[in-house]
Order: sequence, then C-alpha cells, then structure tokens
Amino acid sequence: MPPAQLTALLARTFGFASFRANQEAVCRAAVDGRDVLLVMPTGAGKSLCYQLPAVARGGTALVISPLIALMDDQASKLSELGLRAARIHSGLDREVSRQACREYLNGTLDFLFIAPERLRVPGFPEMLAKRKPALIAIDEAHCISQWGHDFRPDYRLLGGYLPALRPAPVVALTATATPIVQDDIVAQLQLNQPARFIHGFRRNNLAVEVVEVSKSKRTPLALTLLSPAERRPAIVYAPTRKEAETLAEELSQHFSTAAYHAGLDPDHRERVQREFLGGKLEAVVATIAFGMGIDKPDVRTVIHTALPGSLEAYYQEIGRAGRDGKPSRTILMHSYADRRTHDFFYERDYPPVEELDLIFRKLAPEPRHREELAELLKSKLDGEIFLTALDKLMTHGGARIDYDGNVTRGDQGWRQPYLSQSNQRMTQLDKVVRYAESHQCRMSQLVRHFGDDEDGRRACGHCDVCSPERAIAQRFRPLDDTEREVMFSLLRALRSGGSKSTGKLHQELCDRNGISRDHFEDILGALSGAGLLAIEDASFEKDGRSIAYRKASLTRDGEDLGEDDAVSILMRDSSEHTAPAAKTAKRERKQKALKVEVPLSAEAAALEEKLRAWRREEAGRMGQPAFLIFPDKTLRAIAVERPRTEEDLLAVDGIGPAKAAKFGAMVCGICAAD
Ligand code: ADP
Ligand code: MG
Repeated sequence: MPPAQLTALLARTFGFASFRANQEAVCRAAVDGRDVLLVMPTGAGKSLCYQLPAVARGGTALVISPLIALMDDQASKLSELGLRAARIHSGLDREVSRQACREYLNGTLDFLFIAPERLRVPGFPEMLAKRKPALIAIDEAHCISQWGHDFRPDYRLLGGYLPALRPAPVVALTATATPIVQDDIVAQLQLNQPARFIHGFRRNNLAVEVVEVSKSKRTPLALTLLSPAERRPAIVYAPTRKEAETLAEELSQHFSTAAYHAGLDPDHRERVQREFLGGKLEAVVATIAFGMGIDKPDVRTVIHTALPGSLEAYYQEIGRAGRDGKPSRTILMHSYADRRTHDFFYERDYPPVEELDLIFRKLAPEPRHREELAELLKSKLDGEIFLTALDKLMTHGGARIDYDGNVTRGDQGWRQPYLSQSNQRMTQLDKVVRYAESHQCRMSQLVRHFGDDEDGRRACGHCDVCSPERAIAQRFRPLDDTEREVMFSLLRALRSGGSKSTGKLHQELCDRNGISRDHFEDILGALSGAGLLAIEDASFEKDGRSIAYRKASLTRDGEDLGEDDAVSILMRDSSEHTAPAAKTAKRERKQKALKVEVPLSAEAAALEEKLRAWRREEAGRMGQPAFLIFPDKTLRAIAVERPRTEEDLLAVDGIGPAKAAKFGAMVCGICAAD
C-alpha cells in the first residue's frame, strides 16, 4: 500500500491528520504481513499500530488483552469510529459471547477482543482456527515473560495456540520491556523474524539527578529541595510505609503534604489522590503503591529517598514528572547502605537452591502436610525460610499444594527456572547500582536500558552528568591540584589512541599519588561529563562467564586539550568518600589512611579472619608471600564489601581483572559461605 493511501486511511477511519513519531513505519511493517514487536511508553499511541494495519488488511483482527477494562475501552472507541468490534470475556453474558463467536465465524467483525484465559475453554481455540484472522495483536505482551514485572500464567498459553491461527502477522505491544523481556516475548510467541520497534523512552523535559547521600541526611535534603514553591507539586517515593509517614509529617510542617501507601484504608487513599490531583496537596510521600492510575500533568519534582529495586520501576516513577512537557526535575538519593538493604531482601526472598532441595527431597507422590514438613526440616530450615523456600518451589513446579495445605512432589525441572529468576533479580539490582554510580548521561542510560541503542547514544544535556552546574542536590567542585595532575597524565596516556580499561589506567597512573579507585572513577566521570573522555561498558569472557569492566578513550575535545589550556572541570563533591584524601607525600598519606580507618563490624571482622586463613593457605601452596595475593588493605576491603560475583570483586579497591579472574571464584565462595 503506497504511503499516501495509508495516510488517507488514517484520516478517513481514525480522524487523525498525521502519524505520530514511528507509527507509520510500524503500520507499514504490519500491513506488509511482518511480525512486529513494538515497545513504546504508555500514551505513545500503540493501539493505532495494530488497528490501522488491521483495517488496511481487511478481514478480522484478533486482539488478546489481559484486562477487561482495557478491552472494553478499546472496543467502544472502535465502535464509535464505525468499526465492528466484539469482545469475549468472563464479565459478559453467555449469549453475548455466543453472538460474538457467530459474527466472528461469519466474517462480519473487524475486531474480536479476547482475554487470554478464553483459550483454555474447550473448543474455543478450534473455533478461532476455523476462520483465520487477518492480523493478531497481543497487547501488554510483557505479561508473557516471567522476567517482566507483571507475569501472567495465562499468557504462557499463547505461544502454543498461535500456529493454528497463522499465517496472520502477529503484532506484540508493550510499554515496558527490557531487552531480555523483548527476547523472551519473541521466543515465546515464536515471532518470525519480527520487525522490532523500540522507541520513545527519551523524556526531553526531565532533568535527572542522582546524589550520593547518607540515610540520615535525606530528610533535610528532601525538605531543602522542595522548599522553593516552583519545585512543587512533587511526589516523593520512600522505601517503607513508616518512612513515608515520617517524612510526610516532617514536610507537612512547611507545605501541605500527605503520606500514601497500601496500609491506609481505601477511602483515605482515594482522598489523598483526589486532593493531590485537585491541587489541595502540594506533595505526596508514597511507597510504590502510588501513581498507578494518576495522570497529573504538572508534577515538577519526583524524589526517591532510597535506591529503587529496578530501573524499570524507577523509570516509571520518574516518568510521572512533567507530563505537561514543562521542565521538571527528578532526584535519586542513594548510598552504599541502600545496596545492603536490597541484598538483605534478596537473601530473604531467594533462598539458596540447596534449601529448596532439602524440601524437594522430602516430597513424595503421597501428600504430606505443610506443618509436618516444616517439623521434619526444623533443624535445617528456620520457619520463615521454610515457607519462602516452599513458596518458590511451588512457583517453579517442584511442589504442589492443595487447599488444606497438603504438599505433594512436583516436577524435577524446577531448579533451572528458579536459578535464572534468582539471577535475574540480582542482575536487576546490579543495574540500578551501576546506574546510580555511573558517570554517563542519565537519560541515555535509561533509553539504552530499554533497548533503544541508537537513541541512547545522544546525551540529554540536562542531567547531573551533562550539566553539573545546574544540579540542585549533588554538589560539585573544581578539581584540586592532584586531580588535575591525574587528569593530564590520563590525557597523555590515552593520546596514543584507542581505549584502555579504567582499572589498568588506575594502576598505571595512581601508583604514587594515593588516589583510590573510587576517587579515580570520579575523576574519569568528571572528564567524561566535560566531554573530554568517552567511557564505555565492556566485558570479556572468562570460563564461560561474562565479566564487565569499563574502558576510556579520548574524545576529539580531549585530544585537542593542551596542558596550558585553561579548562574548568567540575567533579562530584562526595564528602562521604571513604577513601583518604589525595596527598602527594607518601608518609603523610599513610598517617592519614590510618586515621580515617573505620572499625570493622563484627561480621566483617569475622569474614576478614576467614579470608586471612585462606590467603595463608593459598600463599603456602603457591610458595609466595601472602601480601602478593592480596595486601591487608585489600583483604579488609573485601571483607567490608562482601563481593558475590567477580564483577563485584572488580569494584573493590585494589582489585584488577587479573586478580579477579585468578581468585574471584574462591574469594566470592568464602564471602557467600560466611
Ligand atoms: P498506548 O497504548 O501506547 O498507551 P494509545 O494507543 O492508547 O496509547 O493512544 C494514546 C492516545 O493517543 C489515544 O487517545 C489515541 O487516540 C491518541 N493517538 C494515537 N495516535 C494518534 C495520532 N496519530 N494522532 C493523534 N492522536 C493519536
Ligand atoms: Mg495500550
């Protein structure tokens, strides 16, 4: 179909004068009969991308949608446009559904909407297959993937039923799918070399800011940030109900603020939401329960007072700022303690596979009551852990339970899915942490996170990395003399061309000046923010595992910068740096390092002892002095950081890729077992 004809159809049938960004290319692919994966944010206009091709192709389009409300809404909009749309879902009268089936078989429908669980009704898939649809659309397609945040078991069935309905093109649509979820959708629906469209994640009016700040300073910082009236209305996301209430109480001394969380009764929540929408409340301090249905256009600021659990959730939450397109700002507060909190919950929610195995081995085809099982395993599994482990076992098919609590043995194949889910959760956490600590444009990182690599190459110009001088939470300062020295030796080291790993550069350049690895990364970040350096994430394969590292190279500006050029570089003023300040004289540095040494926690001290014992043994085996394996300082840093992967280990001060590769497995093993 020629472009003019498609545009004419858009105007004639849908009443739109023109396509929105990317819609035309998507429609074209589907009209041509290609399978399509479409990922665009909510409100971008995805529905049109299956509706217009459906009309262009003629015949009936089958639309699978998980929510009755969505289905009803779409169907009634299409009917208003004069198209014939019917629905089949559990909320409807039997006779209405029968009528819809008859119309489908007669070929008089333009659209038939069904809920996925319909496919489980005997005879229904066969009925659909009798008259093949001209196009199949799957809305909210991320629900098919257990990596997505809204997995629905009924969506799993789809892959099996689609072949009988082919050769129609399948259009899968979603607003939220990271690359791993995208691949899962394609695999499960068996899409045939789909055209992939991943667009629209960039928000041009959002200035995204991240600030490292200890927990005790977050309340005063939130108050300072929100004090100027033009920074409100605001939404503040707090990690727990209790913290939401305390902070709301504090803020309400200064401007009208209320807490919002799932522990409040529905009437109360409704009132808070209404008052915020209506402008009576200037700020809401909420847990994640807030904002699902709300679309308040003039939210000027969104603050997170703790590190969110995933970048997907974070993106959705900051996305509630500036819907009206006016400049708005988002601030994420974090520190190392946040990672600890997440690790704690991770360990609580994902017990080791061995613990699930303890339960699995006690199961048989004959039922055994849950309490009895718990009693049997009492010496090995604490009650809470037992329940969590049993729950995970059931989720992944290793155990079945009836309403009375009788448990029987399930399938053998639960381990792999459990392990990959657990790893996936850990990866999500790693990604948020990396994001918070990185020195790359915030918006382009987010855009890339959702798989739009092309758009992700462009810096936003507003975030704390692109525009440090305009940041309101993170403080910046000019480089000091030592840092400037490092900067120029770095420029010299890279001038020969190509890129070098940042770990190696640190070893080469900071041997004598006492600049720690973290501090060095901050300098790199400042230089990349100033456009002198390009920093890239890279990885190498080692024993079948992928190990991440970062490499730096000069940009054109970096190449051109001479040592006499006046250049003012701002860097993050991390007053909470644990590393000692840079000093040139070695002795002075040593004294200082001793002074700032913090006492180890009891756990860290115990782990340090274990690591020391291992080092002694290892040194004996290798016939080498112990400090060549790791110096004391590094050993202590490991005990504090408790790396669980080689990647974590690489992040520890004093560890380079060679050491990580050589001792990583053993060291992480000791940390994990402790
Ligand atoms: P999504 O499913 O991506 O969240 P919708 O398909 O519901 O978004 O579309 C959001 C709104 O945009 C709808 O009101 C729709 O009518 C409107 N819309 C879609 N495409 C266009 C267009 N080309 N021109 C004007 N409005 C459009
Ligand atoms: Mg939609």
